[in-house]
Amino acid sequence: MTSVEAVVRAALAARDRAYAPYSGFRVGAALVTGNGAVFTGANVENASFGLTVCAERVALWTAIVAGATSIRLLVVIADTHDPVSPCGACRQVLMELAPDADVVMATVSGRRELLTVRELLPRAFTTGALAEAPSREAALRPRRSPSGEPGLPAPDQT
Ligand SMILES: [Zn+2]
Repeated sequence: MTSVEAVVRAALAARDRAYAPYSGFRVGAALVTGNGAVFTGANVENASFGLTVCAERVALWTAIVAGATSIRLLVVIADTHDPVSPCGACRQVLMELAPDADVVMATVSGRRELLTVRELLPRAFTTGALAEAPSREAALRPRRSPSGEPGLPAPDQT
């Protein structure tokens, strides 16, 4: 079984490969799948800043593409005073791909904090909400105006 500190070391090594020429804020991540495989990620920035991807998502997507079906632990590490916390986007992706995982937030200097994904994202948006949506067929059905003509419904009809 992989120790948490071994996973922290893997995240730290991944952090060295971060591509962060704009912010200089290097982040590493490593995760452990249900069968003990370890996958890593680092943040990858882009001159078009909105395309930047966090270390956690790089690790998660790498694991999924490799065939991982469960993830039990994710470590994220940065050189900050307080343990670095996954951003909102990463929390949402964690909820989808690793809802039962523990998340260790770590600093290069040795601080650690552990929370579960559910603690990081209470009242998350999940596939359960999608199940309550009207059928796709109904959603795609053309709307009719009050006169019966295709088009936008009157303001009082939604
Ligand atoms: Zn993030």
